[in-house]
Amino acid sequence: MQKRVDAVCRISDRHTVPAEAQGAKVLEYFAEDVFDIEKMAAHLPKSAYKKLMATINGMQPLDPSIADDVATAMKEWAVSRGATHYTHWFQPLTGGTAEKHDSFLEFSGGKAIFEFSGKTLTVGEPDASSFPSGGLRSTFEARGYTAWDPTSPAFIKRHDNGGTLCIPTIFCSYTGEVLDKKTPLLRSTQVLKKAVVRLMKCFKQPEEPVKVTLGVEQEYFLIDKKFYLQRPDLLQTGRTLYGAPPAKHQQLEDHYFGSIPPRILAFMTDVEKELWRLGIPAKTRHNEVAPAQFELAPIFEELNLAVDHNMLVMEVLRQVADRHGLVCLLHEKPFAGINGSGKHNNWGIAYGKRNLLDPGSNPAENAVFLTVLTAVIHALDAHSDLLRTATSGIGNDHRLGANEAPPAIISMFVGEQLEEVINQIVKGTSTHAKKSASLRIGIDALPPLNRDATDRNRTSPFAFTGNKFEFRAPGSSQSCAEANMILNTIVAEALDALSDKIESFKAKTFNEELQALLKKEIAAHQRVIFNGDGYAKEWVAEATKKRGLPNLTSTPEAIKPLLVKENQKLFERYGVLTKTELESRYEVFREDYERRLEIEGRIALELAKSVIRPVVIKEYLAMGESRGCVAVDAVRQELAKELDAMNASIASLQKALESGEDISQAIGWLRRSIDALEGLVDDSAWPLPKYREMLFIY
Ligand code: ADP
Ligand code: MG
Repeated sequence: MQKRVDAVCRISDRHTVPAEAQGAKVLEYFAEDVFDIEKMAAHLPKSAYKKLMATINGMQPLDPSIADDVATAMKEWAVSRGATHYTHWFQPLTGGTAEKHDSFLEFSGGKAIFEFSGKTLTVGEPDASSFPSGGLRSTFEARGYTAWDPTSPAFIKRHDNGGTLCIPTIFCSYTGEVLDKKTPLLRSTQVLKKAVVRLMKCFKQPEEPVKVTLGVEQEYFLIDKKFYLQRPDLLQTGRTLYGAPPAKHQQLEDHYFGSIPPRILAFMTDVEKELWRLGIPAKTRHNEVAPAQFELAPIFEELNLAVDHNMLVMEVLRQVADRHGLVCLLHEKPFAGINGSGKHNNWGIAYGKRNLLDPGSNPAENAVFLTVLTAVIHALDAHSDLLRTATSGIGNDHRLGANEAPPAIISMFVGEQLEEVINQIVKGTSTHAKKSASLRIGIDALPPLNRDATDRNRTSPFAFTGNKFEFRAPGSSQSCAEANMILNTIVAEALDALSDKIESFKAKTFNEELQALLKKEIAAHQRVIFNGDGYAKEWVAEATKKRGLPNLTSTPEAIKPLLVKENQKLFERYGVLTKTELESRYEVFREDYERRLEIEGRIALELAKSVIRPVVIKEYLAMGESRGCVAVDAVRQELAKELDAMNASIASLQKALESGEDISQAIGWLRRSIDALEGLVDDSAWPLPKYREMLFIY
């Protein structure tokens, strides 16, 4: 196919445009496009600034009397940086972000002016009718409301010809039902913070501000745009529906942490520049395991901000890639047979200056650490189904349970050392002498846990990595909001369950009682801890048969926990989501899955019938004149056999699409024969860029 050859030639002629070296300049422009605390202080009247800070620090609701001041200050700052428009920036249930721009333009006495009022800053009324609502909408008005979330600072999104002031907002329906991902996330964070404060009170700790922290490692693929545009499957579904595995892919393990190719490094440099301007603390960049796969990780931040920032990271990756003639694929499994992409969700809790997931260095700190750890073990065991729900989605289905990603069974890895401590607690076999003043929670003080020793197991979906939990099941394209909303809520519940008991402990016997409680709790939930190989077949059998852990392998299964009564009660009790809202989410996720599956089926069918089959038939007919040549006859026969198989699979896919059943399986069958044909048909005639081209030529 001429187009494929053209693409290769043009890529080989391409020169990387060297980016200007940044050096210390970065420190000058870091966060320059964010209306952050420093800029608030500089642009706001003192009293308004103070009130706003109180809101941001979570102590008071926003005082409406300062909204106008804040809006004016924001506008002036934004306009001075070239912005002409503003938008409420929100996160509907599509999983992406949404924005509708309005200019600051108004008329005053017939004269054009720029204006931005407190009311426009704090509330918006976008038409909600075109956003997924899972049935919530039909019974109510189409109107939706967006409301400013002052805990995530406004920022300017730049484009070639200007900029837009973006105001992070929540999004709900006319009657107040939640239609977005941010609202329940904010609520769940409040709930968790409250539970932490309560627990720390049990330990007689002075009250300190609680912070839930998040660092999101983002994996992605980059391929040249010239190949991408020749792949209708990538264009329409984000993944390749066809493509035979290349001879060399990732077997040699030569890509991971390899030297970064110049063209990619130029891209990364540009990405970082944009992220830094937005105040996003991009820190780490490297090659990932699969060819053409890379990773970006920021320094962790407060949870809500980190989630917003990750949404921006995905957007910046896509946009900058385009400028570099590349396409950033965020799909969880763009290429079959090689590693997919995930999003490692590093989650932690800070209490004042202290990290509650850090074992600490004295018995009192250890006791708090072990109690929090016990709560997370409890939460995970009680609700691993919900955590799986949070990672559901058609793309991630191809990744979870495949041989390079965590399995769909949600278990916890704690590392050898910590497991030993846990076992000691359960067995009550502390080897330390009983001292009246010190704790006997297994051992008086934990040995310093070597971080490296805890981080070896890459096969676990939920790993304790020394001072944080790393949830590795979320998919690369997913918003982290869902996973953390659930994680926060279930951990809050588990912490409260412990506080319920600890509050009634007598001061004199506190340590013994705590010891007994943790022992009981851990013993009850220990089945969720697994330090072995999560990819092993035996684990599936052990997890499901022996331990009774759920293994929800596909989205339709994985979203069912949203309909379970106990789960609904949990979210209602904590005021995170109502039963109706959970049911609406179920509908949204189900619909999304079914629609995407149908799209995959349709594009697979179209490609097979109108792009690939004609090429195969042409080749077959061209071999018509074999003149008794045995070799030609043999090839012809082989081609005929695969063509027959392809035709049969086309018929089954057609049928599956009509009935809406087994579409996924039918696509798989069709893929088999088409991938086999890829290896038979004249390479120069094959119409789709091949894996060996897309993954290796850039
Ligand atoms: P890895 O070995 O998994 O790459 P890193 O130390 O690079 O480990 O951390 C990965 C991510 O975890 C980074 O984004 C980092 O900022 C984040 N992280 C570290 N500590 C915490 C914490 N206490 N809470 C949340 N995230 C954290
Ligand atoms: Mg990691």
